[in-house]
Amino acid sequence: MVWDTDLTPISNRRFHNLRNRLLFSYFLIIAAILGTFSAAVYLLVAHDRNQQLDAHLRQVAASSTGMLEIIQHEYEELTTEDKYKGYVPTGSDGMPVPITLSQLMGKYQAESASQIAVSPLAASHQGVEWYDAQRRLMVREGGLFLQTSLASEIPQHGILMQAGNIRSFTKPVYAVSTTNPAQILGYVRVTESTVTLEAELHRLQWSLVVGVVTVSGLVALGGIWFTRESLKPILQSFNQLKQFTSDASHELRNPLTAIRASIAVMQSHPERIHPADMEKLISIASASAQMSRLVDDLLLLARMDRQAPDQSGWQRIALDELLEDLVDFCRDRAEQSQIFLKSQLIPGVEINGDASQLQQVFTNLLTNALQYTPSNGTVIVSLQRMGTHALVTVQDTGIGIAPEQLPHIFDRFWRADQARSRYEEGSGLGLAIAKTIAQRHQGDITVQSELGEGSRFYVKLPLAG
Ligand code: ADP
Repeated sequence: MVWDTDLTPISNRRFHNLRNRLLFSYFLIIAAILGTFSAAVYLLVAHDRNQQLDAHLRQVAASSTGMLEIIQHEYEELTTEDKYKGYVPTGSDGMPVPITLSQLMGKYQAESASQIAVSPLAASHQGVEWYDAQRRLMVREGGLFLQTSLASEIPQHGILMQAGNIRSFTKPVYAVSTTNPAQILGYVRVTESTVTLEAELHRLQWSLVVGVVTVSGLVALGGIWFTRESLKPILQSFNQLKQFTSDASHELRNPLTAIRASIAVMQSHPERIHPADMEKLISIASASAQMSRLVDDLLLLARMDRQAPDQSGWQRIALDELLEDLVDFCRDRAEQSQIFLKSQLIPGVEINGDASQLQQVFTNLLTNALQYTPSNGTVIVSLQRMGTHALVTVQDTGIGIAPEQLPHIFDRFWRADQARSRYEEGSGLGLAIAKTIAQRHQGDITVQSELGEGSRFYVKLPLAG
């Protein structure tokens, strides 16, 4: 991969995170589109197949209603005339049990009940039932019937119902009479199993799920290539920018050194300088010193961006001693600013690292704390062990940082407005450098702050051994 070879692990991690975020968003969008599309296809097909089934039930019911009058007539003869006595079997309650259409029509050849033929549709997954006006079941045909009686309210246009795996359509049949059009002759109920339809929809559902998962997987694979290719130009520009920063800082260094050396020579012979120019010379000296610091910071960042951490120069560092020296070094400055500077360091905490770089981390944090804390404030540097890590806290009672500014404070060149008015010479690179160094030592820096109350910077570094 391009960023594996061209970048340091930290930049590499940043690009990896960016690529993973892009990939994840891309995958989510495609999965959402495919999911919605599949759900829509499933709902459409299910709706269509259900409509087809309902239409079929209505059709069978419509063709069966015409037979009701004949069936009723034949059934009445069968149950009332003596010659058919014993032809219709009766239930335990003595009432005739429903017979099939073919059984009904076979009555003309019947001599005894044993001659009743078996319905040719007995194994079917459908059924048609004919009821009389008193809702008594007379005849049925097919192999699938509901065990329940007719619905209590049946509208004129019929009623569709679903019970378990059976869909039914019940329709009242009216006498064709001009005098009393609302006279009910009976009812027809058509039933059909929905098992096949459900199995079909279940198969469709699984096919769509498998399709979505497979396509999403392929999209993820394509996305890896796609994000890699689309990040290539950004990575190239990033590298060019870093190279430019590094080259520009390097080129600025020599003329700056010459300017500072000339100023130092001039300041060492004050008698040769006109008194009116002395103030200007001091300003030039201060500005060139500030510029020199900025160039050094930029060079350091550029170097760290380009080079992987080199642990060969690392040494075992007693962190408590390093911090104590630093606190002692800053004590004069704290006193001048009337700030109470305190340290709470547990002894024997050792880490592996580059001493001068780590010194820079804590110097940046401590000078910030002193810089952004008004007189009579307090700055405390503490050190403790936390599992396999050392935890250094630099705490102050200074101006604090607004919550919306907190995500930016480790950005390069970022400075809060209050900080600009308080400390003009700042560059906004100190925290960026500190964080980069901490990360190159497999650690990190985090912050907690409240505007007007103060800030706490936490540096977490792995303990030696
Ligand atoms: P600089 O201090 O040179 O401006 P830094 O990178 O060290 O740059 O800090 C970036 C910004 O973070 C500062 O400008 C300031 O707004 C804020 N900041 C850093 N440390 C503190 C602190 N201890 N208290 C309040 N604000 C801080």
